[in-house]
Amino acid sequence: MSQAFLDRVASFAAEHITPAAAGWSMGGDLDASIYEMAGQFGILGMRVPQSFGGQGVDFTTLASACSILAGADFGFAMSLVNTHNIALRLSEIASDTQKQRYLPSLLNGKISACTALTEPGAGSDFAAVTTKASKTDTGWLLNGEKTWIINGRHAGLSIVYAQCRAIGDAGGIGAFLVDLNAKGVTRYAIDSSFAQSSMGTGGFTLQDVEVEHDALLIAPGTAFKAILTEINGARTYVAAMCNGMLGKAVVDVATYGTQRTSFGKPLNAIPSWQAALSEAQTALDTSQTLTARAIDLVNTGHDAQLAAAQAKIEAVTCAQRQLPELLQLMGAEGLRPEHPFARHIAAAQIAGFTDGATNILKDRVARLTARKGP
Ligand SMILES: Cc1cc2nc3c(=O)[nH]c(=O)nc-3n(C[C@H](O)[C@H](O)[C@H](O)COP(=O)(O)OP(=O)(O)OC[C@H]3O[C@@H](n4cnc5c(N)ncnc54)[C@H](O)[C@@H]3O)c2cc1C
Repeated sequence: MSQAFLDRVASFAAEHITPAAAGWSMGGDLDASIYEMAGQFGILGMRVPQSFGGQGVDFTTLASACSILAGADFGFAMSLVNTHNIALRLSEIASDTQKQRYLPSLLNGKISACTALTEPGAGSDFAAVTTKASKTDTGWLLNGEKTWIINGRHAGLSIVYAQCRAIGDAGGIGAFLVDLNAKGVTRYAIDSSFAQSSMGTGGFTLQDVEVEHDALLIAPGTAFKAILTEINGARTYVAAMCNGMLGKAVVDVATYGTQRTSFGKPLNAIPSWQAALSEAQTALDTSQTLTARAIDLVNTGHDAQLAAAQAKIEAVTCAQRQLPELLQLMGAEGLRPEHPFARHIAAAQIAGFTDGATNILKDRVARLTARKGP
């Protein structure tokens, strides 16, 4: 683990994310310069090898960095790590031409990027995607729509999963690198009952979008399997991010409990108040134990399918349960946008959808732990 890098990430979070996050939570737009600042701090190239201009840190460091960033703002942390994931992917499997064209702008924060699987008619059931890729003499023609995509409203680049054969054929899905400023792409922002600004949530339609042969990053037959393998890392860092949100909330509440007095004594001298805070700390400790196991398996290249699913279920549900309890301990003060409680309660709900919805993961865990008959 690289402590020097994590110290830099903590500085970036404190100096640049925290001051801006209250505005984002009220619907304010991201200032493009913060993305470039993230690039200067090396955050957009965390796991990208140094030979390509990245930081070359290990997965354990990435998970800790995600946790720190999410403690400041889960939405922006998700935005950054999603751009980073595309940069990493390109460094691993893109053609030299694609690397040269896009990697520098991704790493220095000139453009953001996204991974686009979800469609209006296909979420958990990923094999049902209907975005169609048709082969042409010069490459591929893409048609379809992707929705609920992190960075979808501003991304310059996307890895788009599309069906190359008959709809419903999981083996026919391929992954394409698509320039979202290309002709035929129309983007839209998605807003919800709470602000989606820092996550940049949006979608886009693809109408006869032409891409060259080397835009096919993952060929049909392997894309479905590749996403299932890669997603164990994503589930694990999302777990770390939920722990990061909860950890920050515990610290903020503990601090507030020493400052705010009620009936002539500090809040933390009230046994039921302190008991609720201790309960949140204990729940966090349990969650962190499961997350640490998943991180270790991903970091060492072992099968993390079960551990990652368990860690994400635990961390998400722990944050969903404990963040409202911690807000309660803050009284009305906790609702102010300067504090992360309200936006992180919403974020914990989002974490329950991204990279595998909780119910789907519970089914996965049930399958993987089911006892075989005698
Ligand atoms: C803010 C936000 C950002 C996102 N970012 C991205 C992104 O960057 N890229 C991307 O591709 N997608 C993204 N998503 C989409 C996310 O991956 C989907 O929301 C998720 O896959 C669930 O799909 P769905 O919302 O269509 O729910 P559905 O699949 O319609 O499911 C609805 C409910 O039914 C449950 N369910 C469905 N099928 C089953 C089953 N077989 N067994 C048990 N339970 C089931 C689900 O768990 C869920 O609770 C994002 C979503 C949100 C909210």
